[in-house]
Amino acid sequence: MKTIGLIGGMSWESTVPYYRTINRVVGERLGGLHSAKVALYSVDFHEIEVLQHEGRWAESGDILAEAARAVRRGGADFIVLCTNTMHKVAAQIEAAVDVPLLHIADATAERVKAAGLTRIGLLGTKFTMEEDFYRGRLEEQHGLDVLTPPTDQRELVHRVIYGELCLGHVLDPSRRGFQQVVTDLVERQAQGVILGCTEIGLLLRAEDAPVPLFDTATIHAEAAARYAMAE
Ligand code: GLU
Repeated sequence: MKTIGLIGGMSWESTVPYYRTINRVVGERLGGLHSAKVALYSVDFHEIEVLQHEGRWAESGDILAEAARAVRRGGADFIVLCTNTMHKVAAQIEAAVDVPLLHIADATAERVKAAGLTRIGLLGTKFTMEEDFYRGRLEEQHGLDVLTPPTDQRELVHRVIYGELCLGHVLDPSRRGFQQVVTDLVERQAQGVILGCTEIGLLLRAEDAPVPLFDTATIHAEAAARYAMAE
């Protein structure tokens, strides 16, 4: 079994479910007391968040590149970055190590395509919804037709992620707000919605939406466990 190099802490509220999901999948597949081999480097999210909002992406990439080198020294055979947003600096992380990065957008797109969907809503931070590193990858590399909410709803989603979910606050009014955002995407013919921020799955469950929700944290963690166990 390969050792998974997890880079987490962005936020730690979503790294905990990654760890649980990875171990659950390995335990179910291998049985008994089997669990995953994991090297975890968890950052101080405050440092990352400041750099994000000041647009200092290369510096945040330096921190994550160092984290990747650290888990590699700890025996990691591949890297799993437990956040969608920070895949903006995926190339910097990939350049720092001699092992692959399991990209969250690829794992998610494979699941969307396997479900037979082509027109998909995308929720996440403003960086993820508005910039090309994520939505462009879904469109160009995976042929998906990606819909994002209008400006005011993108602001709401971004604010709830940083102001509530990353602090572990899961609040009903925000859930209702997100349900409205999903409903509006479905009215624009979205066949499903990607929860493209690893904390949104803490707020929205399958039963909260009339279409399939693709929780990137769960999908990415399951893909990591399967990759670790692959021959
Ligand atoms: N965890 C979130 C994501 O998946 C947001 C936190 C971050 O900016 O890394 O994008």
